Amino acid sequence: MIIFTDKCNVFTLSFKIMKKEIVDILVIGAGPSGSVSSAYLNKNGINVKVVEKSKFPRYQIGESLIPRCMDNFEEAGLLEALKLQDYQVKSGARFIRGEKDKGVFDFGKKHGEGWDWTWQVPRDHFDNVLITEAQKQGVQVDFETEVIDIQFNGTDSITTVKNAQGELKEIEAKFVIDSSGYGRVVASKLGLEAPSQLAEHGSIFTQIKDVRRPEGSEGTLITFEVLAPEVWFWYIPFSNGNTSVGFVGPMEWINSFEGSTTAIFEEMLKKATHYYDQFKDLPLLFEPYKVENIAKNVTKLYGDGFVLTGNSAEFLDPIFSSGVSFATESGILAAKLALKQAQGEDVDWQVDFVDYIKKGVDVFTSYVKEWYNGNLQEIIFHDKENVEIKKQICAVLAGYVWDNTNPFVKKHNRLIRNVAQLVAMEKTMDPADS
Ligand SMILES: Cc1cc2nc3c(=O)[nH]c(=O)nc-3n(C[C@H](O)[C@H](O)[C@H](O)COP(=O)(O)OP(=O)(O)OC[C@H]3O[C@@H](n4cnc5c(N)ncnc54)[C@H](O)[C@@H]3O)c2cc1C
Repeated sequence: MIIFTDKCNVFTLSFKIMKKEIVDILVIGAGPSGSVSSAYLNKNGINVKVVEKSKFPRYQIGESLIPRCMDNFEEAGLLEALKLQDYQVKSGARFIRGEKDKGVFDFGKKHGEGWDWTWQVPRDHFDNVLITEAQKQGVQVDFETEVIDIQFNGTDSITTVKNAQGELKEIEAKFVIDSSGYGRVVASKLGLEAPSQLAEHGSIFTQIKDVRRPEGSEGTLITFEVLAPEVWFWYIPFSNGNTSVGFVGPMEWINSFEGSTTAIFEEMLKKATHYYDQFKDLPLLFEPYKVENIAKNVTKLYGDGFVLTGNSAEFLDPIFSSGVSFATESGILAAKLALKQAQGEDVDWQVDFVDYIKKGVDVFTSYVKEWYNGNLQEIIFHDKENVEIKKQICAVLAGYVWDNTNPFVKKHNRLIRNVAQLVAMEKTMDPADS
């Protein structure tokens, strides 16, 4: 305690000496992106620390994975711990529209190489397994520790964190991987937030104890029920008997409902004709969350001393469940490049990180746009199924969006549109084929 005195006043200043810590690499956020990057760095001998604002387990949305993320969990050394958990296996996905039931994709029948299954997971449990395994392997994690400031000085940085007791600490790091998801720590600090090029969609979602779940694949297969061209419902059953349910649509549609999010959800549920009877009158496990303007973007993905991964950088749309896959793809790639840099090698972040991630994001962006403008739905729900086209689209839905042997990857910006036009022409020539 220090006491200053002058003629008429006595000022008392009380302060605590701020703790300091030095690490090689600081990871912000213990979601899937932060877990894979920290585990990868740790197993390659880097002194890495994760700071996480929440106490785990904590709820998170994003429960349907796609097969590509299995490669990333494997490379990070986290897959075996996940395999012990008995999560609901996801070996495909289904899109339905009205009475039609044609959009069933089986990842075992996709174009090219790669995983043909993954899981549907309650993210509170799943994310906790990931970060606990990373800790077991030696990653230092401070939970309930929020980043409140970062100052960059060239490539060095000082990050100020605050723990649950309100204590402050400064962490010096030679490099920061920002995996803070919707927290978007570095993007907001450095003013990097940018508007998305995608339409403004919102979502309402919760979980329900699925006591009327049907037997067989009807009760286990993730399903997207199309209610209108831009409005859809998701059904993501878990192995614990609960099911994640949610609606996505333009903000205009979301805002056309009034009342509590429970009242809104119940009103929306009446429109999901395929699932209404299964869920009507069942209690919701929690008051539904509402997310507005889902898509996020940034002006740049890296800078002196930092890189942005996962949702802290960009998020497109939930329709193809690509979030965790991109979060882990960018997390593991950032870790590999940061390791190279720590070992004294030159890294071209633009070419090796941004251009690579952008290539995959561009493919999914085309699919999201072509889904909402109706072209992709025309192909998926077409009566006459083309087996080869379906295989190629299936590989994209599995997350293999860097495989240029797939025409639906290589020519993503025009092939869907062209095929949709052919489907429309076929329908004009044969009106019975709707
Ligand atoms: C409606 C909706 C549906 C979705 N559905 C899917 C889906 O089916 N499949 C899919 O793959 N993805 C889906 N997503 C996307 C998914 O939620 C994310 O892509 C995914 O969680 C990103 O992982 P992450 O590791 O980047 O971030 P997160 O999982 O968000 O983890 C970031 C962590 O950083 C922590 N953090 C934040 N701020 C700070 C701070 N200041 N200091 C310290 N820590 C901090 C947070 O507490 C959090 O634990 C959906 C998204 C929405 C909005």
